[in-house]
Amino acid sequence: MALRIQVLASGSKGNCIWVCSTKTRILIDTGLSGAEITRRLKQAGGDPAMLDGIIVSHEHRDHVNSVGIMSRRYDLPVLINEGTLGSLPPRITPFAETLIFKTGTTFKFGDLTIHPFSVPHDASDPVGFIIEENHTRLGICTDLGMATKLVVNYLSSCNALILESNHDPDLLLNGPYPWDLKKRISGKHGHLSNIDALKLAALTYNQNMKHLILAHLSETNNHPEIVESLFDKARLENEWFTLKVEVSSQDTIGSPVTL
Ligand SMILES: [Zn+2]
Ligand SMILES: [Zn+2]
Repeated sequence: MALRIQVLASGSKGNCIWVCSTKTRILIDTGLSGAEITRRLKQAGGDPAMLDGIIVSHEHRDHVNSVGIMSRRYDLPVLINEGTLGSLPPRITPFAETLIFKTGTTFKFGDLTIHPFSVPHDASDPVGFIIEENHTRLGICTDLGMATKLVVNYLSSCNALILESNHDPDLLLNGPYPWDLKKRISGKHGHLSNIDALKLAALTYNQNMKHLILAHLSETNNHPEIVESLFDKARLENEWFTLKVEVSSQDTIGSPVTL
């Protein structure tokens, strides 16, 4: 096994992705309560006592809610950049151990090689990740307002991709959110729409990409069926037939993916 991936939660109420290699087990973001993440990890066949660390993408509550609790309870190092660390609400810290990474600088953690790259989002120093083991590459890219050239470059040679497909533009425009929030979500430092996600998936698709997991769907301005039908249509129109597309959920754990 190179990499095993499972989304434990995805959406504006909390995000958490469990990634295991042969020797290393990590969580990317812990946006639910510690009890709920523990419950979902066990449901997925994991054990929080066997984790090696938590990696943080940015300081928004839906990504960091229980990072301090999980770190202290299970004695886990937290891998985070300076900007995100400095912007955390005080209640989140301290951590059992803090390991600082630099955005744009590749680092090793256990047998994983991790490339954190900058994404445009309204946070201090938000990042996406390429997580690599033995030339198998997983791309994780949620919470971004637009796909920059840098983002496209990083995501272009992945075997699996977890990609934000946050909102349907019409549902957002005609939905109940106040105008300022609509502008924030659809802006360059907000969240990717379904169409933006499809364009980014098309730009970064390669023949080694086997799994596409669509993530961080808005519960108010999107629906899994809209995303599924958009991507199903694209799969038929493009040469994506072998690509498995899954839409992740806020309330239930996703299927395990092994690369
Ligand atoms: Zn988020
Ligand atoms: Zn965010």
